[in-house]
Amino acid sequence: MVDRMEKEPFVGSVRFFKILILSTVALLILIPTVLSIVFGVKAFQLSVSNQELEKKILILGEQLDEMSLKIEKLEQPEEVPETPKEMFPEAEEWEILLVNDSHPLQRNFEVELEAVGSQCVDVRIREPLEKMMSDMRLEGMRPLVCSGYRTLERQTELFREYVEQKLKEGMGYDDAFYRAKNRIAVPGTSEHQTGLAVDIVGISHQCLDDEQADTEEAVWLEKHCAEYGFILRYPKGKQDITGIEYESWHFRYVGIPAAVYIMEHQMTLEEYLEKIHSLE
Ligand SMILES: [Zn+2]
Repeated sequence: MVDRMEKEPFVGSVRFFKILILSTVALLILIPTVLSIVFGVKAFQLSVSNQELEKKILILGEQLDEMSLKIEKLEQPEEVPETPKEMFPEAEEWEILLVNDSHPLQRNFEVELEAVGSQCVDVRIREPLEKMMSDMRLEGMRPLVCSGYRTLERQTELFREYVEQKLKEGMGYDDAFYRAKNRIAVPGTSEHQTGLAVDIVGISHQCLDDEQADTEEAVWLEKHCAEYGFILRYPKGKQDITGIEYESWHFRYVGIPAAVYIMEHQMTLEEYLEKIHSLE
């Protein structure tokens, strides 16, 4: 007889429950482990990428700072190392008084005069003028101040005389007037009325003509006048600015610092003043 043992069904069997319990336990251990590994890795990756991000933000911040500095530099033109005040030597208002065709002298203009030889000048320029003259004499020259301060009446007389002379030479009135205007300032617009200007010639050549420029005195004066505060007021080739033809004999006091600047830069008083105003 075959002992047929009835096969016990697997589901519900002790083995089944054992496997079930073991599997459950295994899953309970495995799932959190796997999850924690996965999330751990993710968190690690996140923290790494966060660090990288922070680094990148820092770099970007630095780059932004650099860029904003550059933009600031671009927006604010590089600071001019020499500001107008440093660039332009200090000058008293009276020293750089502009008198020309378009800047006539005020009618009530007054000046305190002092004599230099047979001429008068503003009391404030007597000393530098005499020093300049005496230094020229020490070098063997014979300078002469042939014209200093002029009253409005004297300037008018000079102007009229010049026009009349040209009329006598056969020139028409308009031509004579404009010729005079280029040579002698129109009354009221002459620097001689300020007492700050002088005409200096060599005794050996007492003519206000083209040859005057070749005299020893004129050559010396153009080179050294600034050392005493004077400028050659009507230089060659600047007639369109000054309104007056080249006059190798006419010197104007502006003070040493301004004179040195003007003569060094071969400027006129008009250009010097224009530059100051443009930089203000
Ligand atoms: Zn003059």
